[in-house]
Amino acid sequence: MVDAAILGHRIRHYRSAAELTLDALGERIGLAGSQLSLIENGHREPKLSHLQAIAEVLGVTTAQLLEPEPPSERSRMELDLQRLQEGASYRRLGLPVVRPTRSMNDDLLAALVGMHRELDRRAREAIATPEQARRDATALRHRMREQANALPEIEDLAEEQLRAVGYEGGSLTHRTVSEMAARLGFELVYVTDLPHSTRSVTDLENGRIYLPPASIPGGHGLRSMALQALAHRLLGHHEPQDYSEFLQQRLEINYFAAATLMPRSRAVDYLRKAKKERNLAVEDFRDAFGVTHETAAMRFTNLATTHLDLRVHFLRVGEDGALSRVYENDGIPIPVDASGHAEGQLVCRKFAARSAFERTSRTTEFYQYTDTPNGTFWCSTQTGAGAEGEFSISFGVRFDDAKYFRGSQTAFREVSRCPDDRCCARPDDGLVDRWRRKSWASARMHQHTLAPLPSGTYPGVDDAELYAFLERHAPAI
Ligand SMILES: [Zn+2]
Repeated sequence: MVDAAILGHRIRHYRSAAELTLDALGERIGLAGSQLSLIENGHREPKLSHLQAIAEVLGVTTAQLLEPEPPSERSRMELDLQRLQEGASYRRLGLPVVRPTRSMNDDLLAALVGMHRELDRRAREAIATPEQARRDATALRHRMREQANALPEIEDLAEEQLRAVGYEGGSLTHRTVSEMAARLGFELVYVTDLPHSTRSVTDLENGRIYLPPASIPGGHGLRSMALQALAHRLLGHHEPQDYSEFLQQRLEINYFAAATLMPRSRAVDYLRKAKKERNLAVEDFRDAFGVTHETAAMRFTNLATTHLDLRVHFLRVGEDGALSRVYENDGIPIPVDASGHAEGQLVCRKFAARSAFERTSRTTEFYQYTDTPNGTFWCSTQTGAGAEGEFSISFGVRFDDAKYFRGSQTAFREVSRCPDDRCCARPDDGLVDRWRRKSWASARMHQHTLAPLPSGTYPGVDDAELYAFLERHAPAI
């Protein structure tokens, strides 16, 4: 895609070099000088025939005019000034827009651009507060609930990409993922020194996607990360303007990766058949497509309501009992704070998501019915361990839909009265009498509670570390 502003600057650059006025060049190509001025200012895109005529008169090739770089450092600063003044943080100030003119000297221009960049950086920093992040995450959760956690356009895109590389079903191989990357002009490069604040880094100039080394546990993680990096390109993502857009983008790339690893048509066929046989199980779905339990369970939520007529819930809970990821549209009571935010809240101790940690045999899913103030729910839970300790993945439905799932015959049943504190949040009175004043505990501080989020170009990413990394790995010219 051609950036009209850059193209305009390139035309002006070569016109000045040829010492032609707007009117003089216009006359030779059959365009009024005023029309040409609109093109040079990026307000209008030239027709191809005009572009060819301009190139011919100026003694350059059309390709030279169409190069994606500003023609000079001065021109780059002028374009930056224009772009930054169009940004939301400047426009909110209601100050006049300054057009860079020829009479504006380089120092003045550099000072203005520098101040704009700092203003922009500070605006991003202010946005990245934990409170705002929580509000944005909650809004996104509600939006996805309204659309049954499904993004049909991304489903289509994933199937289209798979068709293009001749995918014929089964578990997606690393090789197929590399072919998908190559079609988009990218090579996958595995490195051991990725910046700590990133999961993958893309070098757009040299067409490389940097990923962690292939030896990390959980084989599907790499395919997923490569697919996520590709998704940014396929979905036309640009630098997120705020945290909400950042979250939206992250959701979309995760969705694309899952929809590619478990394509809609095949996944729906698979699940419909299992539903008919009353033998639905996340663990089977997981194994059929060679992904992690978490990916399979989350993917199930994308398809359940639209394609299987099931309302479902998904919970990822840490060993401390805190929710780290959640989706529900079946009405299961999930813990939320005063602002409606769920992540980080403690899940009821009676839920399978927590009782599953107490089991010693964990080779299969754990099944449980739970009576709650919102009705009875059936749940299947699998536990695992990651870098941040143990976690559980739960997937379930309302009582009436449990019959379609393996494990619906379970005899485990619990009663949850949460959010009533007397359910599980408060200790038993007898225990309080027994231990109060006879014990002492030293609290462990949550390391991240007080730390501000890093505030780079991308929320959470340390720019200094990122750019040093790219520099280190860029191929020599
Ligand atoms: Zn409880």
